[in-house]
Amino acid sequence: MTTTKVLSTITERPANYPHEWEQDAVLRAGGTVHIRPIVPSDADALQVFVQDMSSESSYFRFFRVKRELQPEELSSYTELDYKLDMAFVAIVDGHLVGVGRYNAIESDPTSAEIAFTVSDAFQGEGIGTLLVFRVAAYARAVGIEQFRAYLLADNHAMMRVFRNAGFPLKRAIDEGVYTVEIPTEESDSVLEAEGKAEQISTAASLLPLFYPHSIAVIGASRNRASIGGRLFNNIINADFQGPVYPVNPKTAVVRSIPTFASVKDIPGNVDLAFIVVPSPFVLGVVQECADKGVKGLVVISAGFSEVGEAGADAEHELLKITREAGMRMVGPNCMGLLNTDPAINLDGQFGPIMPPRGNVAMLSQSGALGLAIIDYATELGIGISTFVSVGNKTDVSSNDLLLYWEEDPNTDVILLYLESFGSPRRFSRIARRIGMKKPIIAVKSGRTAAGAKAASSHTGSLASLDTAVDALFEQAGVIRVDTLEELFNVASLLSSQPLPEGRRVCVITNAGGPAILAVDALESQGLEVPALSDALQAELRSFLSDDAAVANPIDMIAAAGPAEYKRTIKMMLASDEIDALIAVYIPASDLGVAETATAIREAAEESDQNKTFLSVYMNSAGVPSELASTEAKFPAFPFPERAAMALRKAVEYSEWRQKPVGTVQHFDDIDREGARRVLDNAIATVGPEGEWLDPDAVDAILVAYGLSIPKTAVVDSVDEAMSFAADIGAPVVLKVISPSAVHKSDVGGVVLDISGDEEVAAAYERVTGAVPDPEGVLVQEFVSGGHEILIGMVEDPNFGPLIVFGLGGVFVELIGDVAFRIHPLTDVDAVEMIADVKSARLLEGYRGGEPGDVEAVIDALLRISALVEDLPEVFEMDLNPIKVGKPGSGVRVVDARIRVRPARGSWIPSRTDLPSSM
Ligand code: ADP
Ligand code: MG
Repeated sequence: MTTTKVLSTITERPANYPHEWEQDAVLRAGGTVHIRPIVPSDADALQVFVQDMSSESSYFRFFRVKRELQPEELSSYTELDYKLDMAFVAIVDGHLVGVGRYNAIESDPTSAEIAFTVSDAFQGEGIGTLLVFRVAAYARAVGIEQFRAYLLADNHAMMRVFRNAGFPLKRAIDEGVYTVEIPTEESDSVLEAEGKAEQISTAASLLPLFYPHSIAVIGASRNRASIGGRLFNNIINADFQGPVYPVNPKTAVVRSIPTFASVKDIPGNVDLAFIVVPSPFVLGVVQECADKGVKGLVVISAGFSEVGEAGADAEHELLKITREAGMRMVGPNCMGLLNTDPAINLDGQFGPIMPPRGNVAMLSQSGALGLAIIDYATELGIGISTFVSVGNKTDVSSNDLLLYWEEDPNTDVILLYLESFGSPRRFSRIARRIGMKKPIIAVKSGRTAAGAKAASSHTGSLASLDTAVDALFEQAGVIRVDTLEELFNVASLLSSQPLPEGRRVCVITNAGGPAILAVDALESQGLEVPALSDALQAELRSFLSDDAAVANPIDMIAAAGPAEYKRTIKMMLASDEIDALIAVYIPASDLGVAETATAIREAAEESDQNKTFLSVYMNSAGVPSELASTEAKFPAFPFPERAAMALRKAVEYSEWRQKPVGTVQHFDDIDREGARRVLDNAIATVGPEGEWLDPDAVDAILVAYGLSIPKTAVVDSVDEAMSFAADIGAPVVLKVISPSAVHKSDVGGVVLDISGDEEVAAAYERVTGAVPDPEGVLVQEFVSGGHEILIGMVEDPNFGPLIVFGLGGVFVELIGDVAFRIHPLTDVDAVEMIADVKSARLLEGYRGGEPGDVEAVIDALLRISALVEDLPEVFEMDLNPIKVGKPGSGVRVVDARIRVRPARGSWIPSRTDLPSSM
């Protein structure tokens, strides 16, 4: 901690204070750092910050040891125009602990000098890196392309920060001073470094929850039936590797262990506290944990936001105490967590079962279901690495846990049982990245909610289609299952077997009926059961019965015993004619079951496998222990349909991993500043509900993003309409502007293809007469011919912005032939979206029709994704139609609506503002 006494507070925000640039992040040691633009009232804190600097830091920063700043220096550091000069401060617990700044170079305002300083006590926490990302992102947004930093040659720490941030460095040294040149561009390596930095700090902050050195159970009880009793017993019984302290002021001893009246009375350190006290006591107990220096909390107690308003207030307070103390908290209203790593043996949940150790991590939002999940997994022999019941997800979120599991060496497969996702924008990015390394399997969480209340646009009503959710999961590589049973079937396959490299499957069996069932099941899942080559068939013939079928499925008939199974399995696992093998076994009697099951298992073990192997054992007695156990290392299913389903999910996931991800396009010709100005102006009067922008603002923003629109003017009178129509030349289009008409043409508010004063005057009367509340008329150039497409965006509370593409016009909702993707779109996403829409083949000149400019459509999709990225205030967009001309002639947006609401950004960190929260 710093010795600083001056708290850094904003007493007044300057008029142009860019509040949307405030951000919270998790520190490696837990706790949060708030990063925000500097304000003049930071001057006192900045002075103290400089006074507290070590000589070395001061020397590195100022090239001499500076003990304090002069008044004019202080004001030049804190009173900035937020454009040519900019600085961000990092605040921990109200104390200023870091500053990052740039000053544009007068002779070349696309370049800026930069300097970063982090207080000595907080170095190594990742604050410098966060400041670099923030300052660079800001600079990029205002058009600064290049940074220049002067660093003393031995300032290795800062050099490392720049390099770790993924920026390519150009260095030149002169008399011990390095000049470092850094392009501010958000390259893939910067994005990657940003993700990495977030992963490292989040995972580190969660370590005290999974690897505590010592535990307190607050509310440990002598009553073995109570939750506090069960939890305490579980921890003791599982043989936790460190000390466990029962805390209970009403009892002297629990399970022969003396209790403490308060966590503060415990003599040693406490890393992790479980809290199982009635809800009115939780805040007090948590405050004591904060005072004690506890690092992690698991709040089992219920009675918070799930019970209503008063509970929600208490939950907010709970979060505040937790954050201010730099603790991380699971829950409240949860059933706990466990970590089967024998180095720790932590059974911190109150259910009856500690599952076997394994490589599957699990997250459950429902507590009760969590118990059932552990039970079920144990029975199926699925080994667990860590399990977390997240409860209300007040602090530790699903995203945080994904980031922890991303690099957890004990975890290979991640299971999610979620009732709600909560993180706009971040989930898909994190899931996509992790999915490339480890499969994430999620139980279907219902339909997307975006469409339900947003039917005021084409895009809004399209988003309520259930297919949207499927598209979202597919794009992020998340394996979606409909039931818990499927969840476990897929998990048992992926946790034990290599991914299939293709769709070719071989079935071996000892009976014809099951073989037919298996082949039907595989084919209905879109998998292939190819005939084997003559050579392979001949080889099989050489040792199988004459009555056996060897083409695939391989039916070894009832006579087949352990030897036949073993030899055939080994042969097929070595063959390159297939990608996966299913061994089906139906015992004719009890005789030889154990031997055959053992032979199947040994065959798999003895093969140098890179193929996916599954077994199906069909008998009401259940799968024998030789096949069903965590040691078997391959899954055994009771029915072929389940095996086929699991295999198909594995194949699709494998295909997703092999697919090129593509890149998010960066456009040089976008006028971000212009668009930002228009938006800031418009949004000043908009409340939290949001509003549709005026046509002028819409056009200005689209043009700033390089989308072309026909010549357009807003007019208030017939005369103006006639004069503008004459200016652009015939023919023109007239459209009424009216808040009540969502779809103008539905009510007769659009007249197309008009020429001459007379027609213009008539059309003017018609369109203004069509609605009760005309606010003006749009006169627009008529764009003849071409195809019509729709591109839209709607922000889903679960998944963040969804971008939709379809062939446009008024029938788009009716037909529903559209493609959804989660923002941001890569170039590959854009191409795929068009391919996914069947009617989009019309753009290729289907059946002699006129072809369209597909390249320009791809470009438009990517530009819209860029717009969505830069302008988080935009939460719904409907560009319908966009006119697509002949190849090479581009596209033109003839009707566009954009809905905006103020960006969230507040001084008190709210959970949703945290980049790592979900
Ligand atoms: P709304 O969607 O509110 O009914 P639009 O502005 O989309 O109103 O107009 C309805 C239809 O008129 C469009 O789908 C398109 O077919 C046609 N249209 C609109 N503006 C133009 C234009 N400038 N050039 C050619 N056709 C247009
Ligand atoms: Mg329209």
